[in-house]
Amino acid sequence: MLCLGIESSCDETALALVEDGRLLDSVLASQADVHALFGGVVPELASREHYRYIGPLFDELMHRCQRQAADIDLVSVARGPGLLGSLLVGVAFAKGLALGLGARFLGLNHLHAHLLAVGLEQKLTFPCLGLLVSGGHTHIYRIEAPWRFLPLGRTLDDAAGEAFDKVGKLLGLAYPGGRLMDALARSGRADAGLFPRPYLDNDNLDFSFSGLKTAAAAYIEHYLDGRWPRPLQCVEDAPQALRDCCASFNLAVVDTLCAKVARALDRQPDLRTLIVAGGVAANTLLRERLKELMRRRGGEILAPGPALCTDNAAMTAYAGWLLGKAGFHHDLRMETIPRGRVVPEDMLCRAEQP
Ligand code: ATP
Ligand code: MG
Ligand code: FE
Repeated sequence: MLCLGIESSCDETALALVEDGRLLDSVLASQADVHALFGGVVPELASREHYRYIGPLFDELMHRCQRQAADIDLVSVARGPGLLGSLLVGVAFAKGLALGLGARFLGLNHLHAHLLAVGLEQKLTFPCLGLLVSGGHTHIYRIEAPWRFLPLGRTLDDAAGEAFDKVGKLLGLAYPGGRLMDALARSGRADAGLFPRPYLDNDNLDFSFSGLKTAAAAYIEHYLDGRWPRPLQCVEDAPQALRDCCASFNLAVVDTLCAKVARALDRQPDLRTLIVAGGVAANTLLRERLKELMRRRGGEILAPGPALCTDNAAMTAYAGWLLGKAGFHHDLRMETIPRGRVVPEDMLCRAEQP
C-alpha cells in the first residue's frame, strides 16, 4: 500500500510517501525564517506560505520517488490540532487529491502521528507510555494501539517547547530558542536550586510551565547582565552566565518531565516501553535522563532521530499507513479540528472501519 502523508498544521509544509511501512522519501518547506522576523508564527502568513508551496512540493516528491499520482492508495493528512487556516490548506489539498484519484482518505491527530513516527526507525510495541513534548503540547498517553490513545495528563498552560521558546526570546536567542538553549546548556553549570520544579506537589500527571517561565523572567531581569549579540545565533558568542542560566532552566524542565513520567509508570505497572516525541524530544538531557529512567526500570525508550522529532510528513504518511492497514479511513466530509476546539481524544475511532 502506497500512502501519501501531508502535514501543514503549523509552519512546516511537508509531504512524504510510505510504502508497506517503509519511507520512500519526504519533502519539507520550513517557514521558520518568515516567522522569525516576528518572533512567533503569524497564522495568516503561515496559510499563505502553505498555499504557495504545497503543489510544487507534491510534484517534487512524486518526481523524486519516481511514482505517479495514480499509484497512491491512501492520502493521509493532519486534521488537527493546529492553526485553522494552515490545516485547511493541507486538508483541502488531500481531499481534492483523494477524490480525483479515487484513493482512500484519512485525517490524523497530528500529536498521535508525532508519537508513532519512531516506528519508521524502531519496532513499536503496545501497550506503551507516550510522552509528547512539542511546541504547542505536552501530553502523557497510555497507547494501546496506533488508533487507541488514552490521555493521562497534559499541560494546563504553556507547553514545554513554548516555555523554552518564550525564555529563549527573553534571553535574546534566535527563534525558536529550544535547540540553542539545549546547546548552551551543555557547556553551562546547572544550579538545581535556581528555578522551581513546577506542579509536582499534587497527585496528578498534568504539567504547568507558566510559573517556571515567570521565575526565569524574574531571574533574567534582575541577575543577568544581558551583554551579548542579539539575536544570538551560536554558542560561541554566549558568555558563561548565559550558558549557566540555560543549563539551570533546562534541568528544571527535564526534572519536571521525568518526575511525571516516573509517576505515570508507577501507575501503569504493565508498561515497559516509553515513546518520547515532538521537538523537545530532541533535547539531549531529556533523552539521557529518560533513557536512564527506563533502564533502571528494566524497560526501553523509543525516541526518534532529530528530523522525526519536529514537524515532518514522514510521520503522517507512516501513521496513515498503520491505520490504513488496519482498515481505518474517513469520508470526505471529515472536518478539520483546530487548536482550542475540544474534541474527544479518540476522535479517530470515529473513522470508519470496514
Ligand atoms: P505541536 O506539534 O504541538 O503543534 P510543533 O509541531 O510546532 O507543535 P515541534 O515542531 O514538534 O512543535 O517542536 C518545536 C519545539 O521544539 C520548539 O518549541 C523548539 O524550541 C523545541 N525544540 C527543538 N529542539 C529542541 C531541543 N533540542 N531542546 C529543547 N527544545 C527543542
Ligand atoms: Mg514547527
Ligand atoms: Fe507538531
